[in-house]
Amino acid sequence: MTVAAPPLTKIPNYINGQWQDSTSNEWQDVINPATGETLASVPLSDAAEVSKAIDAAAAAYPAWRRTPPEDRIQPLFKLKQLLEDHLDELARIITQENGKTFAEAKAELRRAIENVEVACGIPMMMQGYNLEDVARGIDETMIRQPLGVVAAVTAFNFPGMIPFWFLPYAIACGNTFIVKPSERVPLTMRRTFELLERTGLPAGVVNLVNGGKAAVDTILDHPKVRAVSFVGSTPVAKYIYARAGANGKRAQCQGGAKNHVIVLPDADMKMATQIINDSAFGCAGQRCLAVSVAVTVGEAQKTFRDSITEAAASLRVGNGLDKDVQMGPVITSQSRARIESLIDRGTREGAKLLLDGRSAKVQGGENGNFVKPTVLDGVSAESDLADTEIFGPVLSLVHANNLDDALGFLERSAYGNQASLFTSSGAAARRFRYEAPAGNIGINIGVAAPMAYFPFSGWKDSFFGVQHGQGRDAVEFYTEKKVVVERWAADHSRKF
Ligand code: NAD
Repeated sequence: MTVAAPPLTKIPNYINGQWQDSTSNEWQDVINPATGETLASVPLSDAAEVSKAIDAAAAAYPAWRRTPPEDRIQPLFKLKQLLEDHLDELARIITQENGKTFAEAKAELRRAIENVEVACGIPMMMQGYNLEDVARGIDETMIRQPLGVVAAVTAFNFPGMIPFWFLPYAIACGNTFIVKPSERVPLTMRRTFELLERTGLPAGVVNLVNGGKAAVDTILDHPKVRAVSFVGSTPVAKYIYARAGANGKRAQCQGGAKNHVIVLPDADMKMATQIINDSAFGCAGQRCLAVSVAVTVGEAQKTFRDSITEAAASLRVGNGLDKDVQMGPVITSQSRARIESLIDRGTREGAKLLLDGRSAKVQGGENGNFVKPTVLDGVSAESDLADTEIFGPVLSLVHANNLDDALGFLERSAYGNQASLFTSSGAAARRFRYEAPAGNIGINIGVAAPMAYFPFSGWKDSFFGVQHGQGRDAVEFYTEKKVVVERWAADHSRKF
């Protein structure tokens, strides 16, 4: 395994093809959530620094836009290879700053690479359409053009993957790009940009600014930014969608989630248990597609309750860099405290703790933010917890008499990121696919994460906007349509 270079103490920004030390007075520690060790210090860049990145992107735009799509994708082919070559090193950085296991970190990088591969198809995907002779001697064409400067603001839970739902498509379409990663996990993008630097992209085409709310607000208010992509919690998603919209920008804002899985009695219970165990507790439940509520129907109640509790209890929790560890810590001590207080709330609201992961003791992880897998049984549909995003390793079990009642839980949820069904019935699966009120559907799948050539399709309070990230939606989002009506024939054919 390649050993990651020791992280820089102070993380610079990458603006106009150069690493620049931030002049900010505000800095934040980047903490390894498994050990409590300080890995680096990240600047909360101010408006002047972010504006510099926006100006650099704006200056790079005219030449980049004129670069043929075929030439624009050549750096992406190089990037794919660099990401492959540095996969272990990047995964190690992700584990160090985010806490997920090394295998989970590698898996998220695979999806990042997949998005680079898909964006290499831009010369095909960006094409418009045309029709000759819409009237005699007149032709009509729709062409797609890039927008200009576009930006992405991303969440802590997939530091390597989420920026790649946007970056490859944005630049392949001819835009110039700014990413503002989560200030809790800035090291992955720092290293990724060192790789991007080696791809031959012209200065200013991709820029990295580190920061928090002030940096985001500068992006949202700056007149040169045409579009903003966001991934994070629902309150911030709504805020960004509203402020970007008020400033006339395009916005696609992915928010929080509360994902349900329905387990029917005819499901293959062994498979369902294994998969739901991974979905609920993988990445310590800090996945926007993590299953958070399992709704058992009929006889599935007892069998699933027993099997999932046993499976969850057997998960090995610890530092994600240790080979045998299956679940890492949560991101911060505040996050751990919040999760533990939500578990308390669940019990106060009448749920029964089948497995209690609070006050977790992990050998060697005394300074880490560990919460062990937790299973709450009998969470009532009316309770606060039933539709509160926990974003930790907590699975709530609820029971329904039939599929109608089970679907009722999903209908009542404010969120619609993912819904899954475990069954061996084709009819039930078809009905579920048809009726489930969520944008990503899993049938006998626990984490229904769309491949890069499909949109990441949240609904309800899990998404604000029209075009989603990834695939064709990304091409739509990052281009605007222009329709040209042309007459080159000498005669004027119109009859009045
Ligand atoms: P967060 O909302 O706290 O932060 C996300 C980003 O927004 C960060 O870059 C942060 O600096 C910035 N930010 C935070 N507060 C802000 C404010 N007041 N104004 C402007 N910018 C602000 O989210 P997080 O804790 O990093 O990520 C976890 C959340 O993200 C969960 O709710 C999870 O469900 C969600 N998420 C959703 C998806 C999806 O696809 N829908 C994917 C991953 C994560």
